[in-house]
Amino acid sequence: MSTFIESEERQELRKAVAALAKSYGQDYFVGKARSGEKTSDMWLALGKNGYLGVNLPEQYGGGGGGIGDVAAVCEELAAQGCPMLMMVVSPAICGQVIAKYGTEEQKQRWVPGIADGTETMAFAITEPDAGSNSHKITTTARRDGSDWILKGRKIYISGVDEAKNVLVVARTEDQKSGTLKPCLFVVPTDAAGFEYQPIAMEMVSPEKQFTVFIDDVRVPGDALVGDEDAGIVQLFAGLNPERIMAASFATGIARFALEKASAYAKERSVFRDTPIGAHQAIAHPLAEAHIETELARLMTQKAAALVDAGDDGAAGEAANIAKYAAAEAACNAVDRAIQTHGGNGATQEYGMAALLVATRVMRIAPVSKEMILNFVAMHSLGLPKSY
Ligand SMILES: Cc1cc2nc3c(=O)[nH]c(=O)nc-3n(C[C@H](O)[C@H](O)[C@H](O)COP(=O)(O)OP(=O)(O)OC[C@H]3O[C@@H](n4cnc5c(N)ncnc54)[C@H](O)[C@@H]3O)c2cc1C
Repeated sequence: MSTFIESEERQELRKAVAALAKSYGQDYFVGKARSGEKTSDMWLALGKNGYLGVNLPEQYGGGGGGIGDVAAVCEELAAQGCPMLMMVVSPAICGQVIAKYGTEEQKQRWVPGIADGTETMAFAITEPDAGSNSHKITTTARRDGSDWILKGRKIYISGVDEAKNVLVVARTEDQKSGTLKPCLFVVPTDAAGFEYQPIAMEMVSPEKQFTVFIDDVRVPGDALVGDEDAGIVQLFAGLNPERIMAASFATGIARFALEKASAYAKERSVFRDTPIGAHQAIAHPLAEAHIETELARLMTQKAAALVDAGDDGAAGEAANIAKYAAAEAACNAVDRAIQTHGGNGATQEYGMAALLVATRVMRIAPVSKEMILNFVAMHSLGLPKSY
């Protein structure tokens, strides 16, 4: 039976991840970002403790839990100042899709490395000319004997430099245009013809985004995950989790910013001995942001519960709403946390402005605010399609 309160096990998981993440913290995360280094030691520690693969099946090195568990890991990391995009991508999209649709051999080959962090997998759907309209993607797979040859270009792909493989969304040659029938291929990042270039982003994060060039990359027949004719349903096994993880990434950052802002507002006095937090102009916006964050967390947990119960249809609406609400909550929380800090809010020392782009991006990726509103208008309210 479902409940509004998370299980004791989930709460213990949150505490354990928070403790590990706290031992690294924002200074570590931002320090690595600014020096161009990676957070591999934290990533591997997460893997070693079973947190990265907590959602993946036990027989392939995972924890046997669900998306709600790995979302809790993602949120607690962000709540300690370490928001990890690769949490969204590697265990939640790639791990989840392979565990659900992969062959026995594929599961044995890829899931354990995703779970322990030694074989991180990136995910590539976005293309320069298709953008939000995934039906327009042109990355094409053609059969050559028992192999596949892939050709295309992807953009804004996170963590390709840290990944051993990328789960590439393509379409087969005989489905070259029209409604997308996605085919998913695991492509090694060192495959001949697979190249990537970093995109200069303003986000303060050790995780980078890349343009990926796929130039007649040959992969074996068993690089195809799932059925080439299965259609969009296979992709959504990854996309609902992606939205839930992005929501958790956002609410974690919101919690981090609000905790810092509240601590600062209790300490800082400017007029007489009154702490600035006693002024409602400071307290109420923070309280509002906390309410928005808690509401978004609740919807995120509902979406995760629906995915874990196998109700992908209902999960679609809940995951979209959760991602929308979480992005709004996070943008407001960070904006208000910066305001609370006054000039200190813009410094590197206080770490608030460093959160700006990561939270702002949550209104754009993995699916934009506008596309969620389109979805809700059409599917929840039955309004006509506008595009
Ligand atoms: C930091 C970061 C990490 C990312 N990581 C990955 C990754 O690992 N893998 C991956 O595949 N992709 C990744 N992405 C890409 C991301 O998913 C896309 O940026 C996102 O889907 C939006 O696509 P776009 O940038 O092409 O915007 P566009 O589709 O060009 O949209 C531009 C604007 O127009 C609006 N718009 C477009 N169509 C409509 C419409 N019909 N109605 C109303 N408004 C509309 C959009 O909402 C948006 O505001 C990442 C992006 C960022 C910024």
